[in-house]
Amino acid sequence: MTTTALPGTDALRARAEDALRRCGAQLPAGGTGVTARTPLTGGTLRTLPAATPEGAAATIAAAEAAFGEWRTIPAPRRGALVKRLGELLTEHKEDLAELVTIEAGKIRSEALGEVQEMIDICDFAVGLSRQLYGRTMASERPGHRLSESWHPLGVVGVISAFNFPVAVWSWNTAIALVCGDTVVWKPSELTPLTALACAALLGRAASDTGAPEGVHGLLLGGRDCGELLVDDERVALVSATGSVRMGREVGPRVAARFGRCLLELGGNNAAVVTPSADLALAVRGIVFSAAGTAGQRCTSLRRLIVHEDVADALVEQVVHAYGRLPVGDPFRPGTLIGPLISTAAYDAMTKALVAAQADGGKVLTGGDRRLRDEAPEAAYVGPAVVRMPAQTAIVREETFAPILYVLTYRTLDEAIELHNGVPQGLSSSIFTRDQREAERFLAADGSDCGIANVNIGTSGAEIGGAFGGEKQTGGGRESGSDAWRAYMRRATNTVNHSDELPLAQGVNFL
Ligand code: NAD
Repeated sequence: MTTTALPGTDALRARAEDALRRCGAQLPAGGTGVTARTPLTGGTLRTLPAATPEGAAATIAAAEAAFGEWRTIPAPRRGALVKRLGELLTEHKEDLAELVTIEAGKIRSEALGEVQEMIDICDFAVGLSRQLYGRTMASERPGHRLSESWHPLGVVGVISAFNFPVAVWSWNTAIALVCGDTVVWKPSELTPLTALACAALLGRAASDTGAPEGVHGLLLGGRDCGELLVDDERVALVSATGSVRMGREVGPRVAARFGRCLLELGGNNAAVVTPSADLALAVRGIVFSAAGTAGQRCTSLRRLIVHEDVADALVEQVVHAYGRLPVGDPFRPGTLIGPLISTAAYDAMTKALVAAQADGGKVLTGGDRRLRDEAPEAAYVGPAVVRMPAQTAIVREETFAPILYVLTYRTLDEAIELHNGVPQGLSSSIFTRDQREAERFLAADGSDCGIANVNIGTSGAEIGGAFGGEKQTGGGRESGSDAWRAYMRRATNTVNHSDELPLAQGVNFL
């Protein structure tokens, strides 16, 4: 299904400017280097000045100076800034969602959901500001106390991807701020307007709560601009979200200067469907994970590993559901699939489908370009399902588009081997009503991913858990659980309150 009548670029520009104004963002009068576009039409919204090396150095210097003060403010008081940010995000939820739809192409409900995720992480971080616990250990020496303290780390550089233009920033920033760090953000060059709105709201929160200037800085620009953060010794932690290619470049450069790196890279997520699965429930989970967000989530479902006894029935239901997914204007109520980010993303999708067919794959539905006449510079596509004879090279790659490869298996061991037989390790799921199968999937010799689910799809994580994955996904963890530790430094403290000086391990000296 395709919905017609797209909004025009001029109307979208006006909507974006209104939303920015309501958020209190100042739009620079001129400048080039960054082009804000909308994937809804492929049109240009405006150009913006990119950060210069001198400007970036000054922003990092301001963050470093602010860190000197911020780290001494008690964590529960730092929480007040994040609490205020959460209030402003709640007040401007609609505005931010508007910008997310205009710049990233997300349907309204998913855009609102992304902003809700920001509000949730603020709540989490405010609670955390009173729970940055260290341990007390039993000392082997009499009259001694052994414990650990967690201290602020420094300036955190956040580099984010286009597909979660606001949530990833907030996961990092809300946690880093309560941990006593200051933040410099380099958002995706594809979503500069949402970044301006977020920065303006945090600026307001900082001035409302008396936080030091420089607690947050924004650098607009592309890869060159990201490299300025990567190479700067003053940036203690670089938290980078994006492709494996980006991580390969960023990781070694940060390591070369002994900086800390938190990498959140690409996924190639799979769901195993066993014969005992509730197929109707599985279909809903699969379609949301695979076709939702037009396949542009790091956790999007890309591989379906189905037991051969239920494969035909399941695939038929999935293909049927795909045929009824409304593709088109993401603002329009009822639309479930918005545009791809660019026509280049559509080209990558087409190339992958051609490669899959050359490997013996059969495209069962999708892959067709929609609304081409209405918006030749936009990329609306029918989400694709491809039945594959084997897990070939193209299936092992992440193509950032809605392609679901279907593979079949005979034994659960074989399914798990297929599942883990890719270079990425982000999200995974199993649909089963058999407890032994579910537990095996979650066990040490089951899914090798950072996220392993039962009877839900691979996407749509909650903020309470640690988010991230293994292997080429980079190993980083953000958001909930104890992910905050990556944003702090640990000091082990031994205090002697006796009159003696016993040495550890029974060593005698003096
Ligand atoms: P991308 O790698 O093209 O860009 C991501 C960010 O990195 C951008 O801000 C970009 O300017 C910057 N960048 C690129 N090369 C750089 C370099 N050499 N040095 C410094 N900065 C550099 O990714 P994208 O197309 O925006 O996003 C899609 C990718 O992100 C997918 O692979 C997706 O799976 C991944 N992603 C992962 C997660 C996660 O949490 N694991 C979340 C969202 C997206």
